[in-house]
Amino acid sequence: MTCQQLGGACDKVFRADTFEEMAELSKKHGMEMFQAGDAAHLEAMAKMQELMKSPADMQSWFEGKKKEFEALPEE
Ligand SMILES: [Zn+2]
Repeated sequence: MTCQQLGGACDKVFRADTFEEMAELSKKHGMEMFQAGDAAHLEAMAKMQELMKSPADMQSWFEGKKKEFEALPEE
């Protein structure tokens, strides 16, 4: 899945066996971009933080992305 698909802002592709691993990679990348002061990622992270204010919204976002991940063909 790409950074963008995971709530980020670029086309960087993450590959992992599990969605949890994928989320971890995306989080790490997000932190790197945050530290680099990348404006597009800062904006994307602000949106995610807005989403996290509601645990129910966050949960449904997470579940939706997990389904998206599981629907991907094996490569
Ligand atoms: Zn990115």
